Amino acid sequence: MANCAIVGINWGDEGKGRMVDLIAADYDVVVRYQGGNNAGHTVVNEYGKFALHLLPSGIFRKGVVNVLGNGAVIDPEKLLEEIEETRSKGVPVSPDNLKVSDRAPIVFPYHRDQDVLEEARLADAKYGSTKRGIAPVYGDKYMKKTIMLGELFYPDYLKKRLEGILAWKNLTLKNVYGGKPYSLEEVWDWLMTYGEKIKPYLCDTGAYLRSLDGKKNILFEAQLGVLRDVDFGIYPYTSSSAPLAAYAPIGAGMPGAKLDKVIGVVKAYSTCVGEGPFTAEWFGEDADKLREAGAEYGAATGRPRRVGPMDIVATRYGVIMQGATEVALTKIDILSYMDQIPVCVQYELDGRKTDDFPFPAAIGAAKPVIEYMPGWQCDISGCRSFGELPKAAQEYVDFIEKRIGCPITNISVGAARDAIIRR
Ligand code: GDP
Repeated sequence: MANCAIVGINWGDEGKGRMVDLIAADYDVVVRYQGGNNAGHTVVNEYGKFALHLLPSGIFRKGVVNVLGNGAVIDPEKLLEEIEETRSKGVPVSPDNLKVSDRAPIVFPYHRDQDVLEEARLADAKYGSTKRGIAPVYGDKYMKKTIMLGELFYPDYLKKRLEGILAWKNLTLKNVYGGKPYSLEEVWDWLMTYGEKIKPYLCDTGAYLRSLDGKKNILFEAQLGVLRDVDFGIYPYTSSSAPLAAYAPIGAGMPGAKLDKVIGVVKAYSTCVGEGPFTAEWFGEDADKLREAGAEYGAATGRPRRVGPMDIVATRYGVIMQGATEVALTKIDILSYMDQIPVCVQYELDGRKTDDFPFPAAIGAAKPVIEYMPGWQCDISGCRSFGELPKAAQEYVDFIEKRIGCPITNISVGAARDAIIRR
């Protein structure tokens, strides 16, 4: 029996959902352990195309139990919408295959409002939030002013806490932002409408998972990537949670659990959604061409993603911070149009070349050092073994593997489940 985490080693959107959907066949449970419905994990399979925001990407696999852990934050209204939408495409979703932690904080409508108001206040200095209320709810969690979903089972206790929290929150909404305050009645009504419907899914998921540890195969699915980690990412252009594999046991409620395997996912080129330094970024025609080729538009927001070549400095840092035991390289098929393929191999900072990922305040000044690899210029989406790839594509994979210091065990050549080369 094994525990495995599938995590991002760049800015997010690396293709984790696609890898979880593929690998979930070998696992009994898939756990989302951090983040909220700001995620957009794209999965293409026999049911169709999905952009999963909260539901773990194991939801399509028969017999797999999916868990939203205590480290995630849940907007019950959005979760119900997603359950309905997924069901409408023929995917069974019920308390048999979906369990939600009773300890997960609730994302309220006022968190969404606060997110919008704060981004507007920041104007040009905005972080590029997805405006789903994620930063405000994580902030409130550490201020000890969120409601855990399980409090729905204790209505008197819940109402009293909610009243106190609202009095506090309204001060900020009204006096800081000039926004709309919320009455206890309207928030209570919202909670009764949506929270009540979530109740059947709630349980002590930590206890459930601890009872399976060592007996069943558990897969942890991360949202975002290392460069968005609140501790080790490009702060403050980060998420408010910890997309690290090391956080998976905590966010799942099984702090003593060990990870046998960590699969770091990265694209064959770089993309970044939102603001902040992105050293190897391309602009103009080159960027437009790659963005179009890779359909690089945010799954959660539709925003055009920033694009650039593979960034070895960022990716090696990602491998190290994730403790990745292996790497899945996705979307290499997208590079097929290029006659030569640029790779950012080092950064130049203060007149010196470096392999080390810089401190957040310093990274803005870094310049990419580019090397070129030969392109292959043919369709590789039908390749199913490493040997079938053209020589130049094999060399590209080997080059990256060597530079990032981690074996590349999966090479994805298309969005569909079977478009994969496993080594
Ligand atoms: P995630 O958030 O890490 O799950 O990644 P996203 O879903 O945001 O982005 C990955 C996108 O690339 C999705 O649209 C996938 O369907 C697509 N995709 C994943 N792997 C491949 C691949 O190897 N080739 C191609 N062409 N598309 C892929």
